[in-house]
Amino acid sequence: MLNIVLFGPPGAGKGTQAEFLIENYQLIHLSTGELLRKEIADETPLGLEAKKFIDKGELVPDSLVIGMIKNKLEAHRKANGFVFDGFPRTVEQAEALDRLLEENKTPISGMLSLEVEREELIGRLLGRGKISGRSDDQDQAIIENRISVYAQKTEPLVAYYGAQNKHFGIDGMGTIEEVASRLREAVEKLTG
Ligand code: ADP
Repeated sequence: MLNIVLFGPPGAGKGTQAEFLIENYQLIHLSTGELLRKEIADETPLGLEAKKFIDKGELVPDSLVIGMIKNKLEAHRKANGFVFDGFPRTVEQAEALDRLLEENKTPISGMLSLEVEREELIGRLLGRGKISGRSDDQDQAIIENRISVYAQKTEPLVAYYGAQNKHFGIDGMGTIEEVASRLREAVEKLTG
C-alpha cells in the first residue's frame, strides 16, 4: 500500500502532479478541493456550508472535510493506496487521518512537499482563474488570503510529518515534466 500526502501551497501543482502519480502507481486520488467543488455543484447541505468559507479563501471546518475523507476511505477499502491532495491542511486533520489509517493498518508512506516561490504561485493561480472560472482564483486578495492561511495553519504539517521522518521536500519550480520526474524519484525511494 502506498499512501502519499501530496503537499504544497495553493498553486503548487498538486492536482496536476496527482494525475501522474495515480496513473503510474494505480492509486486513488482524493482531493478535498475537488470533492468540495462537487458538493457545491450538487448544492448539497455540505456544499452550501463549505462555499461560505471557500469564497473567502478560508479553510472549511475540519469536521466537514474529515467526514468526507472517512467516507471515501471506507468506499475504497481494497485500493492499492491513495494520493491525498489538499488534505490534510491542519494538524487536526493530519491527526484524524493517522487515526483513520491506523484502523486499516496502512499508514502514510510519505509527504511529498512541492516548494514554489510566492510570486510564481500568485501568477499561476490568476492564470488558472482565467481558464477555469474558479471564483477563488480570480481575486488577488482571496489568493493572498489562501497563501497566508496556508502559512499559518497548513505549513506546520511539515514539522508534523518531519517528526515521523516522512517529509520530503520537492522543488516545484520548472516544467510539469521536470516536477513529475522529481516526484517519481521520490516515490521510488519510498517504495524501493
Ligand atoms: P488550492 O490548493 O489551489 O487552494 P483546493 O482545490 O485544494 O485548491 O482547495 C480550494 C478550497 O477548498 C480551499 O481554499 C479551502 O477553502 C477548501 N479546502 C480544500 N481542502 C480543504 C481541507 N482539507 N480543509 C479545509 N478546507 C479545504
